[in-house]
Amino acid sequence: MLKFTTLSQKQPSKRKVGDRRQDWDEIYKEFLKPDAKGQSSRCSQCGIPFCQIHCPLHNNIPDWLMLTASGRLREAYDLSSSTNNFPEICGRICPQDRLCEGNCVIDKGFESVTIGAVEKHITDTAFKNGWVKPIKPGVEKSNSVGIIGAGPAGLAAAETLREFGYKVCIYDRYDRAGGLLIYGIPNFKLEKEIVNRRVQLISDSGVSFKLNFEVGRDATLEQLRLKHDAVLIATGAYAGRDLALPGRELPNVINALDYLTASNRKGLGDVVSMFENGALNAENKRVVVIGGGDTAMDCVRTAIRQNAKSVYCLYRRDRTNMPGSMQEVSHAEEEGVNFEWLATPEAFLGEEYLKAVRVAKVHLGVADSSGRQAPRKIPESSSELNADLAICALGFDPEDLPKIFNAPKLKASNWGTIKIDWSKMMTSIDGVFAAGDIVRGASLVVWAIKDGRDAARAIHDYVMSKNYIEAEAS
Ligand code: FAD
Ligand code: SF4
Ligand code: SF4
Repeated sequence: MLKFTTLSQKQPSKRKVGDRRQDWDEIYKEFLKPDAKGQSSRCSQCGIPFCQIHCPLHNNIPDWLMLTASGRLREAYDLSSSTNNFPEICGRICPQDRLCEGNCVIDKGFESVTIGAVEKHITDTAFKNGWVKPIKPGVEKSNSVGIIGAGPAGLAAAETLREFGYKVCIYDRYDRAGGLLIYGIPNFKLEKEIVNRRVQLISDSGVSFKLNFEVGRDATLEQLRLKHDAVLIATGAYAGRDLALPGRELPNVINALDYLTASNRKGLGDVVSMFENGALNAENKRVVVIGGGDTAMDCVRTAIRQNAKSVYCLYRRDRTNMPGSMQEVSHAEEEGVNFEWLATPEAFLGEEYLKAVRVAKVHLGVADSSGRQAPRKIPESSSELNADLAICALGFDPEDLPKIFNAPKLKASNWGTIKIDWSKMMTSIDGVFAAGDIVRGASLVVWAIKDGRDAARAIHDYVMSKNYIEAEAS
């Protein structure tokens, strides 16, 4: 260990840009075993490991790095999977520069340990060697839990509840499990087989899936609550924030998630009529994406792979103030995306179809209460940017669940997030819990996993105490 003084940081190599633009495969090559070993040995085994503190799951990073450096990969896998249900997914798509790696103490002066790449290497090796097995609970319980939503929060909760021996049924309105891991995040960041492999394992462990089942349409929350000993709401955040601008109603001004879902479905082999008729396809078009977060980066890079004629990203702040991961911005720049910093759309121009976006230049004014500088339009700075497709990627809010679920007692915040008692993960309705984006607002996969695990433990405590009280009373 402590090799950071003599060994430089090395990330797994990226595939050539020309190849990346032509296909949908992940852009990083695999870490070779000697590299994973060497890179792990750079860790200084800190007494207070800031990497671990800043990982939402508090993964035992220094110990699994030490085990990897010693070639003890099986033990490294056992350790890393004891705190994370899907380490191979987090290793691929966590914004490590803002979490574990961004807080690695050797980052100042020596560049961080490549924690995410090592985490992915450990779990990919475990899968290759057949070490990853479906959960087999020691004792089967008679109690059942219903989970609404098969995204990472719901899946992590389901797996953890199976470990405790519960019967678990996941209800999802989509035809495939995985939530945004399947229909939001593009294949070039997270290949779909990686998600499907996990869903299969969870299914093999005895969790049942009721797909194409929309709570609010096919059952009420109350009906599910009567059917199960506890219910977990893990429905994510799907209401795309919109732009109230002239021309927004034009048919070729679209929402990011509609666009990404169509692209992901196409990649999965579905026939997508809106893709085939060109409405949600960037091929041969001049594309303008509005937004500066990770969803905007996924849109611009998807458009590149669909052979768009040109791809522009408009963002009203500058590069250093982008909310998205810097790594994602660099990938997009390498792949040929043009960034218009300090620029904001004023109108979508065209009669029946969009022809151009009118764009104003912006400067950053004084910082507001959050510390961020507010963008201010520069008068008479407008110009027109020709466009055949505009994609709005401005973030997401939760849908109005109390209304959709016909559950007025379910308390929500002004932003639509479901209110919970964080010490119990329980909502305002007894026995109904919530986790993931529906509680936090649009967030990250690693936080969804953390919430799912916490909710599973809270549900276990709740059901056990109910069982105890009932046994005492009888
Ligand atoms: P979701 O993944 O949204 O899953 C919710 C599930 O609930 C869905 O399957 C949905 O069909 C189901 N559902 C909703 N309503 C109902 C209903 N009424 N009845 C039945 N089922 C219902 N995070 C990262 O960490 N790294 C990234 O690189 C990253 N990239 C992203 C890219 C995009 C384009 C987007 C949109 C998000 C990205 N995120 C990323 C965020 C991440 O995907 C989410 O934070 C995470 O998926 C939230 O998990 P969840 O389980 O709470 O919800
Ligand atoms: Fe880093 Fe994410 Fe892995 Fe935690 S789960 S160690 S934040 S990559
Ligand atoms: Fe190792 Fe960096 Fe974590 Fe310290 S902060 S234990 S050097 S990975």
